[in-house]
Amino acid sequence: MKIMAIGGHAGDMDLTAGAALAGAVLEGHEVVLFHLTPGEKGHPTLSAQDYAKQKMDEARAFADIIGGRARFLEYGDGELPVNDHVKFQVADVIREEKPQVIITHWKNSIHKDHANTHLIVEDAVFYAEIKAFERSLPPHGVSRIYYADNWEDPFDYEPDVYVGIGDQAYDRWLKGAQQYAYARGETGFQFIEYYKALMTVRGLPHGFPRAEAFARPTWSRQVRLTSLAAKG
Ligand SMILES: [Zn+2]
Repeated sequence: MKIMAIGGHAGDMDLTAGAALAGAVLEGHEVVLFHLTPGEKGHPTLSAQDYAKQKMDEARAFADIIGGRARFLEYGDGELPVNDHVKFQVADVIREEKPQVIITHWKNSIHKDHANTHLIVEDAVFYAEIKAFERSLPPHGVSRIYYADNWEDPFDYEPDVYVGIGDQAYDRWLKGAQQYAYARGETGFQFIEYYKALMTVRGLPHGFPRAEAFARPTWSRQVRLTSLAAKG
């Protein structure tokens, strides 16, 4: 199986879903982290240009450590548009990579790039699937979409899927996350400490020492039963 995580900034998917992605690689699955912008405007001392280059190197290092691949679109931090051009760019990458599972941002965020990524991915999945949208590659349907548990995307977020994180996946995630300067706290928020604690909070009530949580689209939460006594 192939899983593609699509984030507004390099690091978003790595920190929120990266341990589950590391676990998927350990189970033999293929993982792609697709960053629509580097997220290069938040560093207190580095120029956006220098920090963009550094963020892309950090993203590649993270992907290497967990055993996945990183790829990028060429948009600037805070400048990710919502239009058919970018939606078809993402749709073309979906047709090229052919993931069965996509992970992306929840719709309500304090960051416009996150909210825009949600909207872009929603339509890109549709454009990738429908044959009548003629592109250079054949259509590809994605079977599952998950929204990651990001402290910056909290409004009305209700996870309903909990993925247990084993020790090896956790170790790889932590080593990968430490490659990101911002995750280590250089931009003022202790990202790694937050996500380490969140894994415990998401795991313990669901029978795991650690877990990452995800929300599914409303349509995929619907359960079909032949009777009230049938197994769901
Ligand atoms: Zn972000």
